Amino acid sequence: MTPASSKLLSPLCLTNADGTTTMLRNRLIMGSMHTGLEELPDGWERLAAFYAERAAGGVGLIVTGGLSPNSEGNMWSGMRTLDSEEAASPHRVITEAVHAQGAHIVIQLLHAGRYATHADGVAPSALRSPISPATPREMSADDIHRTLFDYAQAAILAQGVGYDGVEVMGAEGYLINQFMAPRANQRNDEWGGSLENRIRFGVEAVRKVRAATRSNFIIIFRLSMLDLVQGGCTWDEVVEMAKAIEAAGANIINPYVGWHESRVPTIATLVPRGAFTGLTLRLKSELGVPVVASNRINDPGLAEQILAQGGADLVSMARPLLADPMLLKKYASGQSTLINTCIACNQGCLDEAFSGRLTTCMVNPRACRETELRIEPTAKPMRIAVIGAGPGGLACAVTAAQRGHEVTLYDAAPVIGGQFNLARLIPGKEEYSETLRYFSAELVRLGVEQRLGERAASKSLLAAGFDHVVLATGVVPRRLSWPGIEHPRVLRYADVIEGRTPVGARVAIVGAGGIGFDVAELLSHEHLEGNELEQFTATWGIDLQGQSPGGLTNPQPARMSRELWLLQRRSDSLGKGLGKTTGWIRRALLRRRGVNMLSGVVYDRFDEEGLHISVGGVARILPVDHVVICAGQDSDRSLLGELESAGQPLSLVGGARMAGELDATRAIDEGVRLACRL
Ligand code: NAP
Repeated sequence: MTPASSKLLSPLCLTNADGTTTMLRNRLIMGSMHTGLEELPDGWERLAAFYAERAAGGVGLIVTGGLSPNSEGNMWSGMRTLDSEEAASPHRVITEAVHAQGAHIVIQLLHAGRYATHADGVAPSALRSPISPATPREMSADDIHRTLFDYAQAAILAQGVGYDGVEVMGAEGYLINQFMAPRANQRNDEWGGSLENRIRFGVEAVRKVRAATRSNFIIIFRLSMLDLVQGGCTWDEVVEMAKAIEAAGANIINPYVGWHESRVPTIATLVPRGAFTGLTLRLKSELGVPVVASNRINDPGLAEQILAQGGADLVSMARPLLADPMLLKKYASGQSTLINTCIACNQGCLDEAFSGRLTTCMVNPRACRETELRIEPTAKPMRIAVIGAGPGGLACAVTAAQRGHEVTLYDAAPVIGGQFNLARLIPGKEEYSETLRYFSAELVRLGVEQRLGERAASKSLLAAGFDHVVLATGVVPRRLSWPGIEHPRVLRYADVIEGRTPVGARVAIVGAGGIGFDVAELLSHEHLEGNELEQFTATWGIDLQGQSPGGLTNPQPARMSRELWLLQRRSDSLGKGLGKTTGWIRRALLRRRGVNMLSGVVYDRFDEEGLHISVGGVARILPVDHVVICAGQDSDRSLLGELESAGQPLSLVGGARMAGELDATRAIDEGVRLACRL
């Protein structure tokens, strides 16, 4: 690909309502994400910096996080709303900052409907969603007309503060989507029942926005292409809706897959890249306006391929632009190996957002902290040793080198990556390799000296006279002490994951944290028939032909040749500490495969009979061939004492600083922050 032959980098001509045209500078859209900055007192400047950095990275069109056109539609009480001049005017700093970088920006209008977590929620019918705390009030005909008016008013306000358009959220199970699907719409007036009635609300919202705004105001409609819930729409209905929305005046259709209450993963890392683009192509063939491909597209190369094959007119990436705002510029300049790729872990972004915290990104802690975490050239270059090439050490080494320090990176292992080398071997977590590819390329680009396969000793570190030593030595597995723990059939998790030891047909896993779940996933995983996409759709019961309402079909029965027990001492249910947006997927997979999950376990001993435990005071023996210990970690600080007593300036990051609750998000964040201070 050269920039000249790239479809992704080529401009897109949008037809305005009056037949004139609007030119987008390329075909990459930054998809909508609520970051949490929207609610902060200094959020406007911070949002402006956040979006401006992505615009500077070359993205053609930005869609902001969603705001409701009235307070009933807010996701939670006290959320900001786009319902008055006063509410709209602070947005101007955002639109100006983005326009200064040559990109277009539209604001998303999102009415939560029954997904509102406050008591004033409204919906087509008084039906509580399975993930909502409250039953919404059924909207009266007056409520409906008033809300449609509010959409138009919000669009006028958006236009007034410089937005180039709006994206009307009609997917993900929010209000407009609720009107569309029988699952949430049981009305028998003109707003429910027949397809024509169910789509009326979405169509009217678009029509009113179009009528209220100038002719070159962009209207994107986010359409649920596959609801993935019982009582969802059929493919034929989706096509009819899309056509009606186009006729009402939308000039881009942006299809999405799944409702928030779906029990089918759509954007987690185990979803194959571009899994739903076949459907986008089918939809595009029915429409005249440009159509967007989205959902698990994290690579400009894949985006290019989709566009080249005519599968879409534009590609939307959201999380990948958290991970690397410069993604498109790097691609355009032939430096794709330097892209910090989104691995769809959700740990820094969606898990945080759905816990009411500020969004960031595991692999890029600067995301949403652009104004506070700056990587600026150092005035005093130092010689820095970073000991440990796990995620925290890598982040520190790279950031320090970016600032102009002279960095030497040590690791006892012959390759970089630390715990990520284990993570990437777990089925469904292969994307973790991308982070290591990025760090590896960046280390070379920055000229970091890599001393791999070399266990750093305090004596040689002191002799080398480094100005600063960063101990990113990570963790060592916690040692347990019950009888039989040294038995050869009691295994270390790293040996199991790396395939260094055979594992029998009956296995007990001691410890159900992140690593216990990873090991259970690995040992229960069976290869199904077909390619990656076929295996994924068969496992989760997804009908990509869209024949069945909601696109759901029967999942293929789970198979597991092993008998597995996943154990923890705590009495609560297993996997509570896993990520909010991915933990349910991991629990569901193991449950479906028949993994035995036991909590409240007391370990007694291991011998030839198996693992002796008691649960609720009742003793039992698990007749297992092997036990895998995944009982957490202790910090590895073996170098600390001697370096400290010799007066060596040093810092600890990641697991070496604190093993409890260790996760890569914290390790990378600490590595970057430390490097910014040095
Ligand atoms: P962890 O999450 O702290 O889990 C340790 C497990 O061992 C817990 O189930 C704990 O539960 C058990 N345990 C602790 N002390 C024990 C003892 N003395 N005897 C028996 N069991 C004991 O640690 P981890 O699984 O090693 O993971 C380390 C970190 O890596 C995690 O915190 C996580 O953030 C990260 N990680 C994340 C993922 C992910 O998917 N997000 C995957 C892998 C790793 P009880 O005390 O109740 O038995």
